[in-house]
Amino acid sequence: GFLHKSKLIEDLEQWLMPATSRPNTPTAEDLARGLAEEELFLVYQPKFDLKLNRVVGAEALLRWQEPSRGLMSPDIIIPLAERHEMMVELTWQVLTLACRQLQRWRRLGWNLSLSVNVPAAWIRSAGLFEAFDSLISRYDISSHDLILEVTESTTLGCLGYAKHILTGLRQRGCRLSLDDFGIGYSSMMQLHRLTFDELKVDRSFISRIEQDKRAEAIALSILDLGHRLEMVVVAEGIETPEQHALLKAAGYDLGQGFWLARPLTEESFVHWCHHLVSPLTPVPQRY
Ligand code: C2E
Ligand code: MG
Ligand code: MG
Ligand code: MG
Repeated sequence: GFLHKSKLIEDLEQWLMPATSRPNTPTAEDLARGLAEEELFLVYQPKFDLKLNRVVGAEALLRWQEPSRGLMSPDIIIPLAERHEMMVELTWQVLTLACRQLQRWRRLGWNLSLSVNVPAAWIRSAGLFEAFDSLISRYDISSHDLILEVTESTTLGCLGYAKHILTGLRQRGCRLSLDDFGIGYSSMMQLHRLTFDELKVDRSFISRIEQDKRAEAIALSILDLGHRLEMVVVAEGIETPEQHALLKAAGYDLGQGFWLARPLTEESFVHWCHHLVSPLTPVPQRY
């Protein structure tokens, strides 16, 4: 009775407190330990070629299995790392895990690309090219298999330097993807100043594409824009077969979303690939 009720109120009050002061919120020390103990890992969301109905790669998404708090997503991890200037270290860990995964897929004979989200802090960090080159050679993979996803805000404020770094990475063979396109605030300038290989249209337009004519107009115009700039255009957040059919008919190159496949652990990704109707055979390096 009473005990239960007061417990409930206590719980509610915890939720009303700002995230940073919640007793159960992980601290910078927790994150440092988590990084050292390899509690952070990647899940892989398959990316589909909508024309050929086949998997061409995956996006690596960060998760943290913390012993006392359970599984945490990027919405907790990223702000924590940002507050404590741990984004650079965190991103190298993510890239290391991604390269190791690419190496494992190669050994299975799978020619899949892997997309990694890289933040502004990483792009600005010192010694980037040297560290990147040594990572690629350590895992004996090709940087052509890595797709680096940046958002419109990543390059804001220091476009010149960001351009130097992104161009250097692209010269090394990495493909560049502009993620969450359409919701940022200098989208056209980014596309004008930098060369991207891929454009990922933000989920907010995709999720409303059927019932909202304005969202549809935007999604179709971005597709046209992307193709005119010779980019591969990706729809993220496809949640229904109707959205899938519409985007495929419209000419979207690639798709990602819960309706096609959820993010999977390394093991479940392998199982899932083994059970695909069409076997995974090497795909042309178009994407
Ligand atoms: P994002 O790069 O746009 O990644 C896509 C997010 O949408 C993922 O959330 C994914 O699980 C989710 N998603 C995929 N399909 C669907 C769908 O059909 N419906 C809905 N509602 N959601 C879908 P997640 O894993 O929580 O990641 C959120 C964001 O956190 C990512 O957005 C990315 O910006 C960031 N993030 C994730 N992993 C990393 C990382 O390793 N490093 C950095 N710097 N950021 C990361
Ligand atoms: Mg992304
Ligand atoms: Mg995205
Ligand atoms: Mg997004």
